[in-house]
Amino acid sequence: MAQQSLHDIYRQYCLKFVLAGLHSVVGKPKNLVTDLAQYQNHVIYPTWNMLPLPIRLMGRPRLRWDEFFTHLRPEVFLAPEGKVALRADASQRLMQLVNRMFGGAGAAAAPAAAGPLPAAFPVAAPGAVPMAMPVQTAPLVAQPIMPTAPPAAAPARRTPAPAPSPPAAQRARTPAPPVESPDSDIALGIDLGTTYSVVAYLDAHGRPVSIPNATGEIVTPSVVLFDEAGPVVGKEAVQASAMEPEKVAECVKRDMGSKYYRKKVGGGYMPPEVISSIILKSLKDDAERKLGPIRKAVITVPAYFDESRRRSTIDAGRLAGLDVLDIINEPTSAAIAYGYQLGFLDPTGKSTVSKPLRVLVYDLGGGTFDVTIVEIQGTSFKAVATDGDVALGGKDWDDKLIEIAAEQFVTQHREDPRQNPVSLQEMWLAAETCKKTLTERPKAAMFVNHLGTRMKIDITREQFEDATAALLGRTRTTTEIVVRQASLNWSLIDRVLLVGGSTRMPQVARMLQELTGKPPERSVAVDEAVAHGAALYASLIVSKQKPTAASPKFSVTNINSHSLGIVGTDPTTGRKKNQILIPKNTPLPTAVTKVFKTQKPGQQTVVIRVVEGESERPEACIQVGTCTIGGLPPQLPAGSPVTVSYAYHADGRLEVTGQVKGLMQPVTTTFQRENTMDDTEMQMWSQYVSVAGAM
Ligand code: ADP
Ligand code: MG
Repeated sequence: MAQQSLHDIYRQYCLKFVLAGLHSVVGKPKNLVTDLAQYQNHVIYPTWNMLPLPIRLMGRPRLRWDEFFTHLRPEVFLAPEGKVALRADASQRLMQLVNRMFGGAGAAAAPAAAGPLPAAFPVAAPGAVPMAMPVQTAPLVAQPIMPTAPPAAAPARRTPAPAPSPPAAQRARTPAPPVESPDSDIALGIDLGTTYSVVAYLDAHGRPVSIPNATGEIVTPSVVLFDEAGPVVGKEAVQASAMEPEKVAECVKRDMGSKYYRKKVGGGYMPPEVISSIILKSLKDDAERKLGPIRKAVITVPAYFDESRRRSTIDAGRLAGLDVLDIINEPTSAAIAYGYQLGFLDPTGKSTVSKPLRVLVYDLGGGTFDVTIVEIQGTSFKAVATDGDVALGGKDWDDKLIEIAAEQFVTQHREDPRQNPVSLQEMWLAAETCKKTLTERPKAAMFVNHLGTRMKIDITREQFEDATAALLGRTRTTTEIVVRQASLNWSLIDRVLLVGGSTRMPQVARMLQELTGKPPERSVAVDEAVAHGAALYASLIVSKQKPTAASPKFSVTNINSHSLGIVGTDPTTGRKKNQILIPKNTPLPTAVTKVFKTQKPGQQTVVIRVVEGESERPEACIQVGTCTIGGLPPQLPAGSPVTVSYAYHADGRLEVTGQVKGLMQPVTTTFQRENTMDDTEMQMWSQYVSVAGAM
């Protein structure tokens, strides 16, 4: 996606929305008082609130909305006898005003090049939102985030203004790549973690190398601070989280693919894909600082991520301006890095291990737990069974420490520090530090600060292990289930591989040693293995188009982590039922075709409801999407056969096709994902991410 100037974005989107907003507020002459305060309350604020959030966020701080609207008033409104109405040529005048005020590419040639707004632009009814407005799951808050300085006092802006360029201080945060060259063939491997992310690439010798961030660290906290000047990712955001928790988004991966989650930012709600894309963009910037412009990347996902979470991850990559070559499961990725280290991927075949290995990958990260069995046979990596927990990770261990500390604080001071968001946020940071110390030492102190009262709480490793035994127990149970599901036993597992920062806690290795009878492997760096495997995999994909001597050669076989079914009606009971078409742990890619029947005579459409989950009851499963076959011939009898095919690709993405048998023309079908953003929303957010990153 070519990077656009704010002016272009303004021309493309804002004008449409501003005009639609104005139409809905003052489309017809109304009895509005035209003094400034009324004008703000009745015209500016409502219009502002109708602008989609990405545009509003982009509008600050260089687009001065207050100024703009002040100029707008005489330009586009008629105010006969205290009433306000839009002029007939409002759209042209609006466009010219934008060119005059904000300059940009089109300004020089304005007004001719500016062109009118689309003639048939829909005008929203009063109170309604414009058509292309992104769906908000919660109402936008009424409070606008525009500058509040009175327009009269606002400094006049030179016109035309130069095209926006990043201020020097911010440029230093994300400097431009050294040389402007075409996108390289380097492809990144990105481990987009719940709490920490890592980006890696293959060097000239084909070795995976992690790329440090702007502050020199290899792991970047997956935390975003929404600062006035734009989003900030990483350590700075973590530090700010204690001061201004409401401005910070973290652990967003837990909410990926969720239709209902939106982070409240700047008076609006931001989808998790966008927050993830800001993290991805920051990692991309880090890589580009070292390597020049890069677009290609493989992003990793937990093996048990469902369809909508996978799609959301790809969307996040696209929003960040990445060409997502593929997504790969984190445990498989870690196994590839392990295989590389053992020499399996050496083109000369110099491996230190000659027999096939069955590896259990135990990945306990910050917010997620994933356990997968991978078979490594020479250069083939094959996942055989997988399970996990999207809501179990180091954060839960931190939470237990917070609980211990808060209880002691309450006993002594009769007040719960968790009730205060700032105290609580500080406790999160203190708990993580305390936990890491307990990895090294048998005793640690945790400090609690609450409204001026400071308390030191001593915690022993034993106390910590006792408090978190149930959490560890959950990972143990899941691990046992996976082995059982693969019809294996511990004697048939060759290695146990530790991945994820939380596996540093000594109790993890101890539990696994006891469970498996084998010493767990720590040979690959627990933080970097996933990103390294992804970099190897990314390079494999690129090399399929352009092979080089250093490019790795191996194959990857994935499995699906959830059963995929279709909702049908049980003819005997008349109840809706999930019929599984592709069972869990089926090797991918796979395709299944099954014939169903239409329900009623003369049916016009057939809706295929795709669900993910193990239960027979559709309401206990996750709705993946629907595929509608429309345009059926009239008088189609009930019971006409409908062929349904599920094609599940190696990267875990699903394509659904439906066809009514015997029809001359193949019936076109559309696969609709329930949680997807529409194209307009996607485009607006991607521009926000690219502009915000450069601000
Ligand atoms: P994710 O991929 O889920 O973001 P990571 O694999 O990066 O997670 O692991 C991050 C988690 O590991 C965090 O909860 C962090 O606190 C924890 N962690 C990192 N180092 C240690 C340590 N030395 N002791 C205990 N936990 C640790
Ligand atoms: Mg991870």
